[in-house]
Amino acid sequence: MLYLALMTLIFFTSSLEREVDRTVDEYLSQLDLDSTRYVVVVANRELQGAAVLHWVEAGKDLAVFFFDRELFLQLSKQERRVLIAHEVGHLAPRCQWGGSRIFRELCADRISSQLVPGEDVAAMLAKSILMFPYYPAREEFMFRLAMLQEQRRISEEIEPTTDGSAEPPAQDAWTECA
Ligand SMILES: [Zn+2]
Repeated sequence: MLYLALMTLIFFTSSLEREVDRTVDEYLSQLDLDSTRYVVVVANRELQGAAVLHWVEAGKDLAVFFFDRELFLQLSKQERRVLIAHEVGHLAPRCQWGGSRIFRELCADRISSQLVPGEDVAAMLAKSILMFPYYPAREEFMFRLAMLQEQRRISEEIEPTTDGSAEPPAQDAWTECA
């Protein structure tokens, strides 16, 4: 019985990792970032949430995506897709600009709403407000949700026409998302 439980756990674990890996691959492709070489880590860590480390080495884009396993097991598949879309969104050239972390978060939210339905991004941010009910995480998620809703409302008027051809500076730092 214990063996069966263990095998089930191992199967689910590996299927979760496969799901995440496939989804990262899918979104990188949709953003024309196929050339990015990356590693996905799904593991338990003190800090709940997700993070991405991105840097450029010898002209190649390299990335490490981290996703908290316990958090992922609490989410639906669609919610996981929203989180993955957000992390991949951080690699979009336009999201590499800006010194302040919060602007990079807003940018990744916006990119993610091109990969998954905008209402799913809004729903995940609303859920995050409840999941992380402490300062400053809660306030940050509230701000991101408000900005996303405002951007969706006026997106047709203000959508920039940037083609992402500008050379972004390498971001040699973890982007923590929660
Ligand atoms: Zn983020």
